[in-house]
Amino acid sequence: MTFSPDLPVTHLKGVGPKLAATLERLGIYRLVDLLLHLPYRYQDRTRITPAVEIVPGEAYLVQGQIINCQILFGKRRSLNVVVEDQTGRVSLRFFHFSKYQQANFKAAGYVRAFGEFRFFGRQLTAAHPEYELFDAEPPAIEGEYLPVYPATQGLAQSRLRRLQETLCAMPWPQDEGLPYSKLQFLHRPPAGIELAEIETIRQALAEDELTAYYLVMKGRALRRMQSNAPLLEQTSGRGRELLAHLGFKLTQAQARVTAEILNDLAKPVPMLRLVQGDVGSGKTVVAAFAAVRAAEHGCQTAVMAPTELLAEQHFINFSNWLAPLNISVVLLTGGLTAAEQRQRLAAVEQGDALVIIGTHALFQRRVVFNNLALSIVDEQHRFGVHQRMALQMKGDQGRQPHQLIMTATPIPRTLTMALYADMEVSVIDELPRGRQPITTHTVDAERRAEVAALMGTNIARGQQGYWVCNLIDVSDEIDAMSLEALEPIVADSLRQVRYGILHGRMSSDEKTQVMARFKAGDIQLLLATTVVEVGVDVPNATHMVIENAERLGLAQLHQLRGRVGRGNLASHCYLLFSSGLSQAAKTRLHAMRDSQDGFYLAEQDLKLRGPGDVLGTRQSGEQSFRIADLTEHAHLISTAMQRGERMLANLADPKEEARMRNLLLTWAPADDRQINV
Ligand code: ADP
Ligand code: MG
Repeated sequence: MTFSPDLPVTHLKGVGPKLAATLERLGIYRLVDLLLHLPYRYQDRTRITPAVEIVPGEAYLVQGQIINCQILFGKRRSLNVVVEDQTGRVSLRFFHFSKYQQANFKAAGYVRAFGEFRFFGRQLTAAHPEYELFDAEPPAIEGEYLPVYPATQGLAQSRLRRLQETLCAMPWPQDEGLPYSKLQFLHRPPAGIELAEIETIRQALAEDELTAYYLVMKGRALRRMQSNAPLLEQTSGRGRELLAHLGFKLTQAQARVTAEILNDLAKPVPMLRLVQGDVGSGKTVVAAFAAVRAAEHGCQTAVMAPTELLAEQHFINFSNWLAPLNISVVLLTGGLTAAEQRQRLAAVEQGDALVIIGTHALFQRRVVFNNLALSIVDEQHRFGVHQRMALQMKGDQGRQPHQLIMTATPIPRTLTMALYADMEVSVIDELPRGRQPITTHTVDAERRAEVAALMGTNIARGQQGYWVCNLIDVSDEIDAMSLEALEPIVADSLRQVRYGILHGRMSSDEKTQVMARFKAGDIQLLLATTVVEVGVDVPNATHMVIENAERLGLAQLHQLRGRVGRGNLASHCYLLFSSGLSQAAKTRLHAMRDSQDGFYLAEQDLKLRGPGDVLGTRQSGEQSFRIADLTEHAHLISTAMQRGERMLANLADPKEEARMRNLLLTWAPADDRQINV
């Protein structure tokens, strides 16, 4: 049977349902998934290392005469085999061994072994090495780089290697542009090659993958253009009513982006628009205008927030803005009783509620909409690039809802164009007027008491503050301030202050209550973990302390800092760091101190930590690509994009078309291989 990418792994000899289930844990379902499951490193077995050259802590292939084999009775019984070559002696030690194994060693004359060597007493010893026995002087080695794969419980390296060998031994389709020979090369690097060749091939594959990703995104955009969405043209102009009672004027940027969105909605094709806007740039109200437009047509809008806290807050804002327009807003959260939940879901299903706000988790369960025309996703970066795809909800009569995605992560332009090639992008590049700048201070944590005193003075003036830690409980492993350790310090040094505590392990009810009390000014100082990072809006909060700021990325620090400076009072942010900062950490904190420009900071983050961090994929642990690593291969992004564009432009050329088809055959999910033009 010839290799074909989509065949299930069970087509491979020796793969039954049990092994298939184990492979699924590695994301391997089809033959191509297995093929793309590449070694993350290689063991160098290209040469036999003489005993004298061995450095403890490294793995080597060694070979020599067996000069002793005996059982040692130390703390644990073990089998010790002494091996000698022209340059010296090493030991092989087995703590688990059979009589049979022992007899084999005794009978053999020579051994070739691979393992990591350490000193056991004065002797360099490998514990449980892989080995091969010989009667006489062993034949010359067929040197190899032995692949080491990402493995999982119940699936040994040796098993994975055998599977890959079986796979690579299949007959392969021959066609230009198929990367199979490259992939086989990585699974079984030929003897005598340089490691640099492996790296070159990985790079080429990474570029292929990025190109395919770009083509898939473009393909999706093209297919979207060909499908239908509710036509939401301008009618009664209820947006004007909203504008009239907002209490503030839109910034020029807000007005421009709102117009871009409303313009999209007035077309019968589904909108997919990303709105980027720095923290505090006022994205929510822009989204509200879109919801009003949908409501004018009697259509529903779903607003998805990443946390319950943020869902609550959106509910408050949307209710305030939309109630005067008689547009009913409903909140779906985890904290509801079953009866409340049922009642609200019914209101959604019957179309009584026009704007439905909740967390992602809730929308992923069964919500039956009644004429859903628009879905709004807030703070998208927390979900990663690919998860977004799963969130496309079904509208009625086969029409897709329009989709609006809002992110506070200012993503550098080069990345946006390649990674979000399926979307239109709007940028709110202006803050509302009257915002006071936030003064940022970097402070050694030893001076915490001074910072506490400043916080106290500020609170005495009627303002509020945040104090943020990375940890909830004191940790043995991580040397960082925790809420548990901070609370007594605050209680002790700020006796007059009413503080509250907020963290991710509290129930959503508790969190909501604390937030409501903080908003009302009843709580003056909020001790919190980074859960406050996203979207919390309390204009009277003007002081923020961030513990162990050196542990956080710029994007996250910028998000956190954006919780203050939301009113018209001067604000301060104190970045506390512990001693012994690395140069990179210093550079990061100084960038934070010197700039409040989210785009600038994102560019810096990109330089300092790589795109994985900028996009938040590293935090969420999301594996975006199989081979391409945005940290390592960022420089390939624009090349891949140009290559993709060239392919799309030359589809009439059969060769180019075949190349593209083959690229997609390997890298794209089956649904995404057809690029309709
Ligand atoms: P973000 O873009 O971070 O989500 P929000 O939408 O939460 O920002 O807006 C931050 C605050 O600014 C809110 O209190 C909001 O009501 C207010 N706001 C939004 N637009 C304006 C404006 N044009 N003028 C004054 N205040 C505004
Ligand atoms: Mg927001």
